[in-house]
Amino acid sequence: MMLKKIGFIGLGIMGKPMAKNLIKAGYSLVVYDIFDAAVEELNAAGAETASSPKDVAEKCETIITMLPNGPQVKEVVTGAGGILEASVIGRIVIDMSSISPIVSKEMYDECKKKGIRFMDAPVSGGEPKAKDGTLAIMVGCDEDDFEQNVSLLKCMGSSVVRTGEIGSGNVTKLANQIIVALNIAAVSEAFTLATKAGVDPQCVFDAIKGGLAGSTVMNAKIPMILERNFNPGFKIDLHIKDLANALDTAHSIGVPVPLTSVIMEIMQALRVDGKGQNDHGSVVQFYEKLAQVEVKS
Ligand code: NAD
Repeated sequence: MMLKKIGFIGLGIMGKPMAKNLIKAGYSLVVYDIFDAAVEELNAAGAETASSPKDVAEKCETIITMLPNGPQVKEVVTGAGGILEASVIGRIVIDMSSISPIVSKEMYDECKKKGIRFMDAPVSGGEPKAKDGTLAIMVGCDEDDFEQNVSLLKCMGSSVVRTGEIGSGNVTKLANQIIVALNIAAVSEAFTLATKAGVDPQCVFDAIKGGLAGSTVMNAKIPMILERNFNPGFKIDLHIKDLANALDTAHSIGVPVPLTSVIMEIMQALRVDGKGQNDHGSVVQFYEKLAQVEVKS
């Protein structure tokens, strides 16, 4: 069976391996990015190239976007040379970027006016899972659009869950990002205390990881922290972007999020300290500076 042609816009840390997995699954791809080297890499892997998002939309029925944040998604969809400049109807845009759900709804409305469908499908799992095709994908869209596109999404993720109508994918992603950030802060605070109290943090980890305090975050971040490895992973700067979207969304619907504000300020302090490009496990370095101790065995 001939698989349909897929457009892919945004070939960064995540988009590149996701696009390659679609090629591996047998899809023909048309790609676009403002960064030429990324486009050339995908072209060498078998993808056709396009001159603009509009050009992508003219060539493909389904267009995936994997961009940094809402302003870039708006530019690609509604800007000059954007998807909506293509005179096509019946296309579907699947935005897999982590953006504000408010922007997802705006884009859905703008697309609807032109007969184009829009769904939000942000991911969790980072570059390793993007490469393995085992991302967790949380999807906000009409039921029919989900049924029609779930097999495509399964080429990039091992878990694909529809969480509700448009915007609900990004609401779910914001919840995910709040939980991850606060979990890293809790682990950092506790391990800084244990280390300064003179207990080997490796022993603390071994003793508690199987109990109620254990978590996927602890299992991923404590080994990195003990090795003093702060290479991203997921950058502090990107987590700040997600927390800003979480604060905006929460305040717009009347939900105070006091703990999210605290971890936002901790990450802002780390950015000022030149650590914005570090992995978010670098939150421990905020505590280490306050307590004058290093969490290592
Ligand atoms: P990235 O910065 O590596 O890639 C973004 C790509 O978009 C770049 O190649 C850039 O050139 C391109 N781009 C920017 N503006 C553009 C425009 N106007 N037109 C075309 N291309 C444009 O980012 P990433 O790490 O791949 O993340 C993408 C999204 O996925 C973000 O929303 C991020 O929060 C989310 N995410 C990232 C991770 C991770 O671990 N990196 C994990 C889960 C989710």
